Amino acid sequence: MQPAVREPVMACVALGANLGDARQAVLQAFEALNNLPGTRLTGRSRLYRSAPHEAQGPDFVNAVARLDTTLSAPGLLDALQALEAQAGRQRPYVNAPRTLDLDLILFGQSRIDSPRLQVPHPRWRERAFVLLPLADVCPDQVSTEDLARVADQPIKVLPEDKA
Ligand code: ADP
Ligand code: MG
Repeated sequence: MQPAVREPVMACVALGANLGDARQAVLQAFEALNNLPGTRLTGRSRLYRSAPHEAQGPDFVNAVARLDTTLSAPGLLDALQALEAQAGRQRPYVNAPRTLDLDLILFGQSRIDSPRLQVPHPRWRERAFVLLPLADVCPDQVSTEDLARVADQPIKVLPEDKA
């Protein structure tokens, strides 16, 4: 019998960091995502700098990765949390500054509402730091209405060559 082969699913992951060398952490995370089993990085947004939004500490470096993956959504979340741990992520309190945050924003057409995983991510349409980089890699997922809704949130594109 042939082994079951799962078709790849397009997933979007939001990357954020505001502790340590945040830019480097985000760039390394792109590489690490591309190296996950059954997973290929198919798009990486520009890097952005945003003021903390419902969070604390220094400015964030933000980005979005587009992936094709044969992992399941919970399997991908496991992998994202392992990468956060490798980057030294600690959770001393809610919304604490973080060395690396990897949130699963979209997973194909899936809608998931389990205690540890909600997809699409519940707050992605309220956040400039998700919508702007997402528009770089998945423009069809972001409308002009979405962008207008978050226009008051401070965010800018980071130059390629410096933090
Ligand atoms: P934040 O909400 O600031 O990203 P954490 O990264 O600490 O905070 O995540 C808190 C919890 O959110 C995780 O334990 C995870 O199980 C849960 N979670 C639910 N849905 C998602 C998702 N789509 N992507 C990432 N984490 C999620
Ligand atoms: Mg998170």
